[in-house]
Amino acid sequence: MHYLCRMLTVAEIIEQKLFSRENLITLLHADGVDGLLMLKKAGELKLQTIGNTVHFRGLIELSNFCEKDCLYCGIRRSNNKIERYNLTDEEVLEAAQFASQEKYGSIVIQSGEVTNEAFVTRIERLITQIKSSNDNKLGITLSLGEQTEAVYKRWFAAGAHRYLLRIESSNPELYRKLHPEDGHHLFEQRLDALKLIRKTGYQTGSGVMIGTPMQTTEDLANDLLFFKDFDIDMVGMGPFIEHDDTPFRIPANEGLSLSDRFNLSLKMVAILRLMMPDINIAATTALQAIDPLGREKAVKAGANIIMPNITPGRYRNHYRLYNNKPCTDEEPEQCQCCLDARLSLADCRIGYGEWGDSLHFIQKKESSFEQM
Ligand code: SF4
Repeated sequence: MHYLCRMLTVAEIIEQKLFSRENLITLLHADGVDGLLMLKKAGELKLQTIGNTVHFRGLIELSNFCEKDCLYCGIRRSNNKIERYNLTDEEVLEAAQFASQEKYGSIVIQSGEVTNEAFVTRIERLITQIKSSNDNKLGITLSLGEQTEAVYKRWFAAGAHRYLLRIESSNPELYRKLHPEDGHHLFEQRLDALKLIRKTGYQTGSGVMIGTPMQTTEDLANDLLFFKDFDIDMVGMGPFIEHDDTPFRIPANEGLSLSDRFNLSLKMVAILRLMMPDINIAATTALQAIDPLGREKAVKAGANIIMPNITPGRYRNHYRLYNNKPCTDEEPEQCQCCLDARLSLADCRIGYGEWGDSLHFIQKKESSFEQM
């Protein structure tokens, strides 16, 4: 007897729990009614699984010094057109205090990659001070690049409990094209760092750029499968946006338009929510750089984390990873974009004062305890 294999429709695929590469590619191509159906299904699945709560993470951009030279990044080591800065300890503590007053529940400390002992010790001290000054009420996520296992352990012991390290692309070939071949930007090294972060005990986050030159739909499908196979706890991914002072540029009339990259990013958020219903997914600022309501659209499509920038306003212009980064000239308390976000998220509950940990991570931990 012969069975005719037919391709599943979008409506059929989104009802499944496991997704083949082929089906993911079909979803990534879904447009019009099919695309809307998929976004709606992802939003509904989020409500059923983790509810309608959005958690804020106050983002502190600690410093734009970076030892790395990623070809697409505005704060890469070789960009001598930017003014380098380092927040003082007082400024970091004040920003954390602001987050606490605003009941954000958590902060993210982000910086270019620095690996020297003075930096490591400073971060350790800041984590300890933030934890003690807020009576352990603020959760701390770190986004400080590739470090050694010993460093990850020190920062974890000091009180940080989530770590974000974007893989940028799960395709080693594409990763090599996005990074200089100087022996310091190795895909395998990045993957090892991500494994060490998880081994240390952090809720582990990663992410990719969407719409980079030379990236295929199959690459994006593989990125989604990578998150699933790695059993990731949180994801922050967004559209690739050029920075004028970097070598990585899409020639005019080539590659995807910004709006195509935006739409593809929304689809990535939605599909990932369908694949991993209980993880944390950030509505990233890069979405907002293309569409003022980008973050809110991502929340409707399945995201549940927003990261208002609480870096003191005078530094924000110097932490430009890409062109048109929003909120660069405002102080945290005046940041209209973030105030607007609160209003336009009126149909969501905002988890003020809550850490908003990844349900996926919590459940994994509980089941490993049960098996002991
Ligand atoms: S992407 Fe990160 S590691 Fe690479 S240059 Fe930019 S800040 Fe540094």
